[in-house]
Amino acid sequence: MNEHDAEKMSALLARSGLERIEEAKDADIVIVNTCCVREKAEQKFYSLMGRLRSLKRRKGVILGVTGCIAQSEKEGIGEKLPYIDFSLGPSSIHRITEAVEHAVRKARFFDFSDNGCTTSLAIEPGNPSRKIKAFVTIMKGCNNFCSYCIVPYVRGREVSRNSRDVVQEIEGLAAQGAKEVTLLGQNVNSYNKGVDDLSFPDLLKAINRIQGIERIRFVTSHPKDLSQGLIDCFGSLDKLCESIHLPFQAGSDKILNLMNRGYSTEGYLNKIRLLRERCPDIAITADCIVGFPGEEDGDFERTMELVREVRFDGMFSFAYSPRKYTAASSLPDAVPREAALERLARLQAVQKSITLEHNRSMEGKVVQVLVEDRSRNSEDEVMGRTRTNKIVNFKGSADMMGSLLEVLITKGYANSLRG
Ligand code: SAH
Ligand code: SF4
Repeated sequence: MNEHDAEKMSALLARSGLERIEEAKDADIVIVNTCCVREKAEQKFYSLMGRLRSLKRRKGVILGVTGCIAQSEKEGIGEKLPYIDFSLGPSSIHRITEAVEHAVRKARFFDFSDNGCTTSLAIEPGNPSRKIKAFVTIMKGCNNFCSYCIVPYVRGREVSRNSRDVVQEIEGLAAQGAKEVTLLGQNVNSYNKGVDDLSFPDLLKAINRIQGIERIRFVTSHPKDLSQGLIDCFGSLDKLCESIHLPFQAGSDKILNLMNRGYSTEGYLNKIRLLRERCPDIAITADCIVGFPGEEDGDFERTMELVREVRFDGMFSFAYSPRKYTAASSLPDAVPREAALERLARLQAVQKSITLEHNRSMEGKVVQVLVEDRSRNSEDEVMGRTRTNKIVNFKGSADMMGSLLEVLITKGYANSLRG
């Protein structure tokens, strides 16, 4: 999501003649787009700003901060970092050109308003490497208030884009050569909830009819909003890829309750069963938090059991970090950091071997791959992804980019496949 926001800003600035470069030390303007979902990202941000401050002193660059940390601090960011020239929250990134123009005139510029408008969602990024695989934001914000999460406070309430605009944007991307589209939102499957417009499954059906688009994905889904109608789309819409990211966060009902997730372990496992009944080949990935306040050994063991039972294709797992504004930050019974990290290491080791087993089970199979790019490691290789979102590297040349090929998988590794 943040990467996509950065690309949108880059596209807007390119329209006024600015050119994107890789190294901050060579730039005239440096914009730091931030995330505050976990503490680590915030710590990294402040140490980066220390380094950029000396760059500003030496070279007089224009320095701006955008994204969630900016939103979380609001005007306070200008006091904390008195040397920055502008700052915008995630809902104001469409004003990036204005912000830069002010900075050029030596006037500071700040905007953290969140008026529920979707202007910031409708900007098309201009990065050519995104031509084959396009990302389209269909909604913003979140109404769920999971007790650990800062997102509702920094990205505001849920607002969905009009389905006509979304379909039109994707038709335009298809006309420019996009083969795959990923629909983005903090909670995509609650798209248009309670609004008189297309429901999320109906939006998928409309996109499935767009000529030129061969693959559809969406991220991220909330288990409580995974309706039967959406489950039925898997296996019945030919372009919808057999892959879903469905965070479970914890395997103990006590912790799920404290997290305010709105489902039980049994409810989650039932959705997994329904998905696999409908679409046996579906690849399922998830997010999980360990060391949430009150998590005892027994609770953590339930998380381990769930992971062993579901056998996710992949998982992102994090040690809990208390965040400003959130309900969980004032909960008692904090888990000591060391214990949380130890649990995290155990969980990640189990998941790593499950992922490897999944990848090895692909050996000998022929699967469809969309070629995205040159391989990172070798000149005469290309990389692409299966419909189940697994990376495949194989011999090939640049002219294969954008092609859908049938590839024989010869080897499964921890993070990728060889074909
Ligand atoms: N909207 C998405 C993503 C939210 S943030 C969703 O609901 O799935 C991405 C992930 O970060 C979450 O799924 C969660 O696992 C993790 N996360 C969020 N807040 C956290 C915190 N305070 N400490 C540790 N991990 C956190
Ligand atoms: Fe955060 Fe929960 Fe909303 Fe995801 S669903 S963004 S974890 S509050």
